[in-house]
Amino acid sequence: MNRRPLIAGNWKMYLSVAESVRLAQAVAATSATCPDLDVMVAPAFTSLAKVCEAVGNTSLKVAAQNVAWAKEGAFTGEIAPPMLTDLGVRLAIVGHSERRQIFGESDAMINRRLLGALAGGLQPVFCVGETLEEREADRTFSVLEHQVRQGLQGVTKEEMPQVVLAYEPVWAIGTGKTATKEQAQEAHAFLRRLLAETYEKNIAEDVRILYGGSVKPDNIDSLMAQPDIDGALVGGAALKAESFERIIRFQ
Ligand code: PEP
Repeated sequence: MNRRPLIAGNWKMYLSVAESVRLAQAVAATSATCPDLDVMVAPAFTSLAKVCEAVGNTSLKVAAQNVAWAKEGAFTGEIAPPMLTDLGVRLAIVGHSERRQIFGESDAMINRRLLGALAGGLQPVFCVGETLEEREADRTFSVLEHQVRQGLQGVTKEEMPQVVLAYEPVWAIGTGKTATKEQAQEAHAFLRRLLAETYEKNIAEDVRILYGGSVKPDNIDSLMAQPDIDGALVGGAALKAESFERIIRFQ
């Protein structure tokens, strides 16, 4: 098993350009002292150029919070993969539950975004997760299976090493409710089995699966101790250098 941990911050619709640059520089300084893992931040689109400029020579990876599927065209409000790679952006989040729930992004649209990211040289961070109603109705695994199968349609086994999967139970995002380490591990193991079934066991073994949903300095250690949790996608706690640093320095 060869999975390099990835600690990722999603800054959502927060921080000015100047605040983003300052935070990215602080995170890059922490990342420089942690050679055994990858660290990523996803600033708002308006901050990407300055953040890439500020941390371009460091190990910190910069991601976009979403990406269009086309290289260019009449897509008002969207950002194309070459526009991002041009800045030095390396990854793109796709399928975040806020995109699915607030902006109505469908599995089919998320699949197009994911394929567009791969074709454009961006690593997709592909988010899946069930709502509280779905969990309570015992539908967690069927929802995850549906989202994964739809989202990864057309992705070849050769492309899979570029894909990062993120399990983010919707009921745990921004709510302060974290999945227990057992709930998270169970979902991650399920996702890995699904990838093994869809692709090959050795491919599934190498795909990084991040947990997201109210990850904080006081729960990161127990989450990262789970065998199938390879990192974290962090919202609120990634907006402060100190709390994100403690998460990056998980034990
Ligand atoms: C997220 O934005 O993906 C997220 C998990 O947010 P939070 O850590 O605030 O729950």
